[in-house]
Amino acid sequence: MTDVLDELTPDEPTDAPRAPASLNWRQEAEDGVVRLWLDCENSEVNVISETVLAELDTLLDHVKETQPKALVIRSAKPAGFAAGADIDSFAELRGEGAVAKLEQGHAVLDKLEALPFPTVAVIHGAALGGGFELALACEYRIGIEGAKFGFPEIQLGLHPGLGGTWRLSQLVDPVEAMQMMLTGRTAHDRKAKKLGIIDALVPERHVEAAIHAAAKGEMKHHAQGFRASALRTRAARSLAATRMRSESQKQAPRTHFPAPFALIDLWEDHGGSKAEMGKAEIASFAELLDSVTAQNLIRVFFLRRKLKAAGKGRSGIAHVHVIGAGTMGAEIAAWSAIQGHSVTIEDVNPEPLGRAVKRASDICEKKHLSGIDTRDALDRMMPDPSGLGRARADLVIEAVPEKMELKEKIYASLRGKMKPGAILASNTSSLRLAELVDAAPERTRFAGLHFFNPVSSMQLVEVVSHDRAERETLDRLAAFVTGIDRLPARVTDYPGFLVNRILAPYLMEAMVLLDEGRSKEEIDRAALAFGMPMGPVTLADQVGLDICLEVANSMRSSLDRPVAETPFWLREKVEAGETGRKAGKGLYDYKGGAEPPKSPEPDPSTEIIDRLILPMCDAAVECLRNDVIHDEEQLDGAVIFGTGWAPFRGGPMRYARTRGLGECRDRLRALAERHGDRFRPDPGWDSLA
Ligand code: NAD
Repeated sequence: MTDVLDELTPDEPTDAPRAPASLNWRQEAEDGVVRLWLDCENSEVNVISETVLAELDTLLDHVKETQPKALVIRSAKPAGFAAGADIDSFAELRGEGAVAKLEQGHAVLDKLEALPFPTVAVIHGAALGGGFELALACEYRIGIEGAKFGFPEIQLGLHPGLGGTWRLSQLVDPVEAMQMMLTGRTAHDRKAKKLGIIDALVPERHVEAAIHAAAKGEMKHHAQGFRASALRTRAARSLAATRMRSESQKQAPRTHFPAPFALIDLWEDHGGSKAEMGKAEIASFAELLDSVTAQNLIRVFFLRRKLKAAGKGRSGIAHVHVIGAGTMGAEIAAWSAIQGHSVTIEDVNPEPLGRAVKRASDICEKKHLSGIDTRDALDRMMPDPSGLGRARADLVIEAVPEKMELKEKIYASLRGKMKPGAILASNTSSLRLAELVDAAPERTRFAGLHFFNPVSSMQLVEVVSHDRAERETLDRLAAFVTGIDRLPARVTDYPGFLVNRILAPYLMEAMVLLDEGRSKEEIDRAALAFGMPMGPVTLADQVGLDICLEVANSMRSSLDRPVAETPFWLREKVEAGETGRKAGKGLYDYKGGAEPPKSPEPDPSTEIIDRLILPMCDAAVECLRNDVIHDEEQLDGAVIFGTGWAPFRGGPMRYARTRGLGECRDRLRALAERHGDRFRPDPGWDSLA
């Protein structure tokens, strides 16, 4: 793509009158067609900031005067069209000020839409959020293969705010448009063409021909379809809106997640008038922006950035060798290869190696990789039954079963066999690095690299230090994690490290609640009502009851505080092979077809919620007191990206602060009196400011 763009982006305009100066746009005119190249300064990606829109406004006035045959808008960035709005500016965008800024933005895109000649957006890569809205204001959209479109605003507790709610619902089937906005799902090139988001899907070499067809009015628009005309009446929209509301309610109630409901209201009430919908969109966006949910979700966006920043620099890791091609090894190898590393993977058995290659190809498909990218990724991943890669790799990742002696034996066999300067990392989830390190070939170049399952969708990776790990080793591992598009959390060698230490009480308390006779559905639905992505009973089945049992035992033996008792029936279940989803039966019976509940309890028991959630906050405080992670922000980010912890609540520490530190501690004390010492608040609460 870079080469093509270099060719297509001339340094100097040819026959254009001088365009107004701009920091983020470059203008070019040729054969009567004006091209505006979006090229945000000092950034690898384009974002639709206030300045970008203000400059566009001036440029549009100028272009209008020149009366071209057509105006083309495209991106000069190899990364894609535009990543969305400038989220940094959201912090200052509040109240009346927000309304005024949004009105200005609307006016610019309305001006673009009203130009009296064809306007064409040419899109490569992603056109998201505000970028998608810019493309929607053009008369034609030409997608280059690989282009994708979406409105991720809902993930920030918002909906589109630059006229996108109206324009998308007028362009494609309104129900499809609403689905895209409500779910934040992206439409990839062919899907986008089918929906009618783009008028043409072409390879780069055919873009010019497509532009000229659009300029001459020879490009056909996709028809919006029958359902769109049926939904022109308010009564029909109301009917569809009721269904949408009940679907959204199943995901999360309005009190927790107001954005989907605000969007549905907007479309139902104003979907028949552009002017009204534009006005209402601005008011609704500004109101959402002030909500606690959006503020917490915007913070999560910055937490991601903060975690990423902890993995800056060069890793010096090109070749990765993975030992153990099971559940984790296969995913780690596949993901590293997809992200551009040369990978070798070994196992004592041939079958897991075959399955690992199949897994890699499935991930490529799931992630919409092109045929060529899939082929390249698979070429980079080599099954290596004799372990030849051990001597060539810059990083060896051990992912064999959780047995100390086995891991030690493997480390011993690596002694003197690894490349000088190479790092050995263990994916262990419960063994202490302080104990494993003695067997490592080079103690300073050994650390934990704790991936979560499945690696291809879980963004967090814990980079686990120990007393003898060299700073450089940890920096290189964190940079490696960022380089494979995951988020590093730098943590210390603590029981369960950070994420599992915090998650363990959630699972263990659920077992106690079951033991007391509460139903699994009630427990799960209460947790869903709080905003957890999965109830603890379902999660225990998912993780595996055998593993839960191991985690409980390990916590009990390594923490210097009481933990919940494990009910005897849980051991019996594990002994009987009922270990959860993988066995077809655990606490739920999957063979019987009974799926765990997915919708929250409308009126959940606060007692259950507090018993599940407050011990997680308490464990978070304990981790901070023990310096397991640097600060509260990194902790909240790690727990959200490692577990999906109710993101709209901002993470366990943000939740505790919002509820009140004193109130949380008092409630824990009350729970301790009623249910036992495991609820006794950590001394760290007293020193939190
Ligand atoms: P697994 O049982 O699915 O896979 C382990 C693989 O290692 C098997 O294919 C086995 O054949 C292979 N193996 C055994 N001995 C070997 C040897 N000497 N040399 C080469 N290969 C050998 O295990 P898993 O779930 O992938 O777990 C691996 C590690 O990752 C463990 O330390 C576990 O605690 C950790 N972990 C697991 C999860 C999870 O959800 N499964 C999550 C995070 C971390």
